[in-house]
Amino acid sequence: MAPEAILSLRNHGDLKALAPVVYYEGIASFIALAPALVPVRLWSRTWVLLAGLLMAMATIVVGFQAVSVGTRWDLVAHTAVMQTNQREATEFLLAFATPLNLAWVIAAAIGFASCIVINLRSPIPRLRTSLITFILCAAASSMGLIHFCRYGTPVRKPVRISTGKTLMICNVGVNFRHPILTLLATSYNYNATHDYYMHLFQQVADHSERSKGGIPVVGATVPRVVVVVIGESASRRHWSLYGYHKETNPELGKLESEILLFSDVISSSVGTQVVLREMFTETSIPMPIFPVFSAAGFKTHWISAQTPQGETDVEVAGLVQSCNHRLFLNAVYDESLVQFMRDAVESPGHQMIFLNLFGSHVRYEDRYPAQYDRFHGDSDKEKLIAKYDNSILYTDRVLAEMIAVLRERHEATCLVYVSDHAEDVYDSIPNMYLFRNDAIATNAMYEVPFLVWFSPEYRSGNPGFVKAAEAARSRGYQTLAFFQSVMDLARLRHPVFDPTLSVFAPEFVQRDRHVGAAGRIYRWDPKR
Ligand SMILES: [Zn+2]
Repeated sequence: MAPEAILSLRNHGDLKALAPVVYYEGIASFIALAPALVPVRLWSRTWVLLAGLLMAMATIVVGFQAVSVGTRWDLVAHTAVMQTNQREATEFLLAFATPLNLAWVIAAAIGFASCIVINLRSPIPRLRTSLITFILCAAASSMGLIHFCRYGTPVRKPVRISTGKTLMICNVGVNFRHPILTLLATSYNYNATHDYYMHLFQQVADHSERSKGGIPVVGATVPRVVVVVIGESASRRHWSLYGYHKETNPELGKLESEILLFSDVISSSVGTQVVLREMFTETSIPMPIFPVFSAAGFKTHWISAQTPQGETDVEVAGLVQSCNHRLFLNAVYDESLVQFMRDAVESPGHQMIFLNLFGSHVRYEDRYPAQYDRFHGDSDKEKLIAKYDNSILYTDRVLAEMIAVLRERHEATCLVYVSDHAEDVYDSIPNMYLFRNDAIATNAMYEVPFLVWFSPEYRSGNPGFVKAAEAARSRGYQTLAFFQSVMDLARLRHPVFDPTLSVFAPEFVQRDRHVGAAGRIYRWDPKR
């Protein structure tokens, strides 16, 4: 680590951010020296066996991520693994199980098995044995090198700290850090953040007083139904409405005169949980915002097509615990959401319905029924793009159906759709499937589709607001504190409402939009 990093520490937060790096490197040295401290041969061999197995497993986990997704293990990857289930994990593995990746796993496993055997058979390591061990370990731990060669990541990397100052951190140290330490470090970070948020979300009831105070905008028509559709891994670069060369929006295309398409919206991260938290928690204290809508008279629904998630152990479930009605449909096709949406729309009173699509989550081909298998390709690259585009085509139909449910009600309703984050499907580098990762952080991973639909009754009840929203379509917006825009759509005012953060408000202020682990400022560039 650069020495100036230590000198620049200003507060506890900075220390917390940098301490694990120093701490785990200390542990690394100890682990490496530990065998020399054990004189008993049986213990020594046991250590070799256990440490070898542990290193093998850690290398295979972290290495598979590196060779398949193309980047190092980080908090987003760790969170995804900790909050996944067997079905999702299998789909992920199948999506990335190419012959090359499987060959790498087998080579790494053989390398480690050989190391262990050689070490166990040689009580006093000879030079030749040590050399073979070293080469096998280096080969097995090659993911750092692969990552470095593939992407040419800068050796020195900027990291922003609380004072606004940017530190240069030596990136090689992070990339080449031992897999066990990488897993320990991300596990530590995951536990710390996860426990913090879960604890916080459970205290939401204590803030009920804070939730009150929502009142309609004077003279406005409060919509009876607000539908917030949260897409999954959809990139606007694959939407024909945004200029993509394949016709992936035939249904929404027919509604072009009815919808407002926002052209410059990006996500704040590439991990679902992080993004959802940042969309739906308050800016000052990270409290879920749903009780504010409930207190203002909306019944809140969270209906998700994604995999089943425990109420208390998974962050998204924890985040939405304060919704009045919650339903996780366990990895169904997104069209299943339409019936549940219809039921909620038809119930009396004001309804705010959050629909979490499964959208374009890997594996893409599992996200749509057979009749949407329209695009095909010859090469592996073209096939993968085709499957991704099929999932976008399917989302197009599901969104059109959701709009149809609202249209037939003939009352003041609106729908907003935004994807949680995008995905880089051969978009920024022609021959590389970069998937998504905050360390690589290409623009394509963040550029999301964003549209709004207003019923005619909503339009006539809120003509000034609709006009302002129409004028806002080319604003550069990031979905941090997205609830501010939802509150504006619901025509509500509340002490936490900040018009400078609502993309629809005339008072909106365009800010620098930071993306990726290094906090780079986003600028539109088709090649990035
Ligand atoms: Zn996601």
